[in-house]
Amino acid sequence: MTRDEIMRVIEEKNIHFFRLQFVDIFGFMKNVAIPRSQIEKALDGKMMFDGSSIDGFVRINESDMYLKPDYDTFVVLPWRNKEGRAAARVICDVYKSDGVTPFEGCPRVNLKRVLAEARELGFTMNVGTECEFFLFEYDEDGMPTTVCQDVAGYFSLDPEDKANDCRREIIEVLENMGFEIEASHHEVAEGQHEINFKYADALTCADNTITFKWVVKTIAARYGLHATFMPKPIYGINGSGMHTNQSLFNLDGTNAFFDEKDKLQLSKVAYQYIAGILKNARGFVGVTNPLVNSYKRLVPGYEAPVYAAWSASNRSAMVRIPAARGMSTRTEVRCPDPSTNPYLALAMMLNSGLDGVKNNIDPPPPVNKDIFEMTRAEMTDEGITVLPGSLEEAIVELKNNPIAKETLGPHIFEKYIEAKEKEWDEYRCAISEWELDNYLRVY
Ligand code: GLN
Ligand code: MG
Ligand code: MG
Ligand code: MG
Repeated sequence: MTRDEIMRVIEEKNIHFFRLQFVDIFGFMKNVAIPRSQIEKALDGKMMFDGSSIDGFVRINESDMYLKPDYDTFVVLPWRNKEGRAAARVICDVYKSDGVTPFEGCPRVNLKRVLAEARELGFTMNVGTECEFFLFEYDEDGMPTTVCQDVAGYFSLDPEDKANDCRREIIEVLENMGFEIEASHHEVAEGQHEINFKYADALTCADNTITFKWVVKTIAARYGLHATFMPKPIYGINGSGMHTNQSLFNLDGTNAFFDEKDKLQLSKVAYQYIAGILKNARGFVGVTNPLVNSYKRLVPGYEAPVYAAWSASNRSAMVRIPAARGMSTRTEVRCPDPSTNPYLALAMMLNSGLDGVKNNIDPPPPVNKDIFEMTRAEMTDEGITVLPGSLEEAIVELKNNPIAKETLGPHIFEKYIEAKEKEWDEYRCAISEWELDNYLRVY
């Protein structure tokens, strides 16, 4: 979209409130709302904000930062229309106080840099994320619970069910905002849902993913439901993943993963990309699975991966190759969960895959049996590694990963690790319900 087109929509739709959005390094969407009178100034990238108040950004003495809108992300917010006065948003890149230098601590700026480097190698990246989430009830005090309305196994919900109506409205709102919804279904667990939207280039996909999560939470709250992307809210049932379908495209627009002549119809680049993903998986889960809670999802028995292996079909593998070929040839990386910052997650996975391409690495053979049935010795023979079992282990691996610092940039790398070490330490020192249940009475 151009500036003129945006101004025309602002007139036509009577936009009175304009939101400038960006993300911090943890993937939280930040938002500055401005009135009509300031819109042109905002569109020209002249809106300043105090970066020192954003976690992981900058220190007080260098805190004036600018928001530069990406016009292509302009969209009218269908649920914010009161008496004809509407609202719209645009996603921004963060710039330093000089107004001309992109801020390296902005995850969106960083992803653009990583994508530009991939382009130098002759590739663009297409991505489709599958975000799973739970819809829970609030208690009388308005605090979210882990109580849901529906019963697992019922794929068609009761028409009276709030969750059913809610999911439908989420889809309608997203469609109104230009999302192409491909499927929506009740997931395996009680109260768990998944809505799939069409893949896009990596940057658009990251923008869509944060927008998606925001819309889901916002609309759910209107139905008195709490939508959560927490990876494992309930022990003993499936957690929520964010399977990330990814492919490289050549600059001429052809799919770089497809090769008709190969046994699996995968190209050399595809095999190398898979090899790079598997090689760096232990290092990147600290980003794609960023919470203490993320590691409670990555356990056997709940369709979430535990081992770094790949397969053309097997869903117990971390990397699966969906059956589609031609332009849809892609890898589905199944470890990420939806609490990740998608800008950082895509940068890490892209550079992991490219590490395999640049260094000509062959993947281990595909694993076509159930990995959960294999012994450790069999796994070692087949080149299968175990993913980190805790955030602590994941952060150590991230720190030691040879491509992480370069991929995230030193600023994000350092701030991210500092924050995650603190998070782990707080968790380590906290006394959990499990400990009380198991120790308080018997000791
Ligand atoms: N919920 C599962 C996970 O944690 C995925 C289930 C599925 O989509 N088949 O990854
Ligand atoms: Mg799915
Ligand atoms: Mg699913
Ligand atoms: Mg999937």
